[in-house]
Amino acid sequence: MTKDTSKLDKVVLQARLNAEKRAKGYREQALKLFPWVCGRCARAFDHKTVQLLEVHHKNHNHDDNPADGSNWELLCTYCHENEHAKVRDSAGRTDRDNAMASATFNPFADLKERFKNKT
Ligand SMILES: [Zn+2]
Ligand SMILES: [Zn+2]
Repeated sequence: MTKDTSKLDKVVLQARLNAEKRAKGYREQALKLFPWVCGRCARAFDHKTVQLLEVHHKNHNHDDNPADGSNWELLCTYCHENEHAKVRDSAGRTDRDNAMASATFNPFADLKERFKNKT
């Protein structure tokens, strides 16, 4: 019995170590791949402040780590928090709300007005 538990502990520990290693791996890779600039507020980072720069997964799947970095985005910790808050907000909305919002938005309405004023 004790033998089995320690075996399980080992497996869990190994899985945790692997996850940490992987997380460290993609962060290092992303920092090598991209300029140290926040993708939202364009704040620039250096070796002293890079701890505030985080790797965001565009599809929100932390296990999806393509080597070309296509699923990664470097965001400062503030914008990163915002990005995730946004997803939490929109998750509460229904699809109908979103469809209605885009249906009532007419990008040409303003353009027409401006054109009229010009002539
Ligand atoms: Zn930012
Ligand atoms: Zn993220």
